[in-house]
Amino acid sequence: MHTEKYDVAIIGTGIGGLVCGCYLAKAGLKTIIIEKNKTVGGYCSSFTRGKYSFDACVHAFSSYREQGVLYRTIKDLGINQIKIGRKNPSDIIVTPDFKIKIYNDLPKAIKEFQSIFPKEKKSIEDFFTYIVKSSLEAFIKSRRMTFRQILDKHFTDSRLKTILSLILLGLVGTDAHELSSVVGCLIYKEFIFDGGYYPQNCIQDFPDSLLEKYKEFHGEIITAKTAKKMTVNDHAVEKVILNDHQEVSAKYFVSACDAKYTLETLIGENALTEIQKIKIKKLKPSLSAFLVYLGLEDSFAIGDDYRSNIWVIQNYDYDGAMQEIANMNNDFLAITSPYAKSEMKKSIGKTLCLSTITLYKDPAYWRDDHKAQLADKLVARAEKIIPGLSKSIKKRVIASPHTLYKWTFNYQGAAYGWASTVSQFCDPDISQKTSIPNLYLSGHWANLSSGVTSVINCGFNVANLILQKEKK
Ligand SMILES: Cc1cc2nc3c(=O)[nH]c(=O)nc-3n(C[C@H](O)[C@H](O)[C@H](O)COP(=O)(O)OP(=O)(O)OC[C@H]3O[C@@H](n4cnc5c(N)ncnc54)[C@H](O)[C@@H]3O)c2cc1C
Repeated sequence: MHTEKYDVAIIGTGIGGLVCGCYLAKAGLKTIIIEKNKTVGGYCSSFTRGKYSFDACVHAFSSYREQGVLYRTIKDLGINQIKIGRKNPSDIIVTPDFKIKIYNDLPKAIKEFQSIFPKEKKSIEDFFTYIVKSSLEAFIKSRRMTFRQILDKHFTDSRLKTILSLILLGLVGTDAHELSSVVGCLIYKEFIFDGGYYPQNCIQDFPDSLLEKYKEFHGEIITAKTAKKMTVNDHAVEKVILNDHQEVSAKYFVSACDAKYTLETLIGENALTEIQKIKIKKLKPSLSAFLVYLGLEDSFAIGDDYRSNIWVIQNYDYDGAMQEIANMNNDFLAITSPYAKSEMKKSIGKTLCLSTITLYKDPAYWRDDHKAQLADKLVARAEKIIPGLSKSIKKRVIASPHTLYKWTFNYQGAAYGWASTVSQFCDPDISQKTSIPNLYLSGHWANLSSGVTSVINCGFNVANLILQKEKK
């Protein structure tokens, strides 16, 4: 029983919770993190089945250039345990007619696109240079525009616009017709033009190294217990009550998990402002994901291309591709291989992961036959570019949107927190600060975009808000 009072209690060990905890503990605040799973990392984690090691969701990191957020955080926290390499090309786009490789070298990446779309030569150069060289302030000038409007302003070739929109759908789970142009440009800048980073072993290396550092800073953690309720008195959270009735008291609380669950269930509607009650019901989550993890025969040849993230785009008609997603008949998928990326190949089996963006539907929809149907479709689709794939499958594990929900409690299995639409992104009513002065939100539900880089930023910002209050 934790009867002592902490300075800060954090719920959730996604990267948004772990980074926040590290900065607070480093500054000397008595910090405790509560995690419902046995392992840390949330979506940024790995698991094994027999000799096969799979990355649950996150398949690559971004922003590890010298001024990048990930690089700065690892240096700031003094994390020496992790070795991060970069794959080149980071991403490969495969369509029925061509293959585009995104190299870690802007002029080369531009040339690659120009060779496929010669009529868009100048627009490609202008657009990619604008994305890479512009600051956040420059992107914010177009904040009322959707990403699709930005693409329409630059390009005429609808195939190019579909490709650029679908990749973003895969990276943020929001339709380009609604997606904030600020988020779209930032994601391209960070994930595509500074992406493709991978740790030595597997994705789990990163949350594990954050946890190790957090403990070195004397941070405490409770795992395998769920936060069920927060008590609010006199407009302040007093304690969090866990599933075994254990109570944790603190001066500040950080919810690094789903904001809807936090505000509606942990806190309860009585403690919310009228505007928050309305907003939390109206805000739209991002789309979810469906993943098929494949363990393959030892003799199966996984080529060098699979060190990159492969985006398979079948349909050049963007609205048609979105309609297929609405009909649960996806043709768009990503192929990644933890095996091909890992440097520890000798000790693990050969693996591939096929993933696609999908609707949540409801738990009843994801019966075994519906899961098998979509999984079979993705395997058949992947087999067109990887001949002999289906015959080499020794193990198949499926994660549906409902599985993602069960892993993390993310509302509707949302892959990327709130949808990053023009109207929702940076909404001040649901943000890092809540209407309760000692309660903060960290992670991809704080409305400041998603992905590991964004949630690192968010965790760092929330830690700073608390440290400022503590005059540290
Ligand atoms: C399929 C997929 C692929 C992705 N690929 C990438 C990628 O390649 N690169 C990238 O940067 N991003 C990627 N993302 C996005 C990225 O994973 C997320 O945006 C980011 O990891 C979210 O981190 P978070 O800290 O907000 O929380 P989450 O990862 O959602 O973690 C929340 C944590 O809180 C815990 N928790 C929740 N409720 C409670 C409770 N009541 N009590 C105790 N614990 C609780 C959960 O168990 C979980 O550990 C991907 C996402 C998906 C779904």
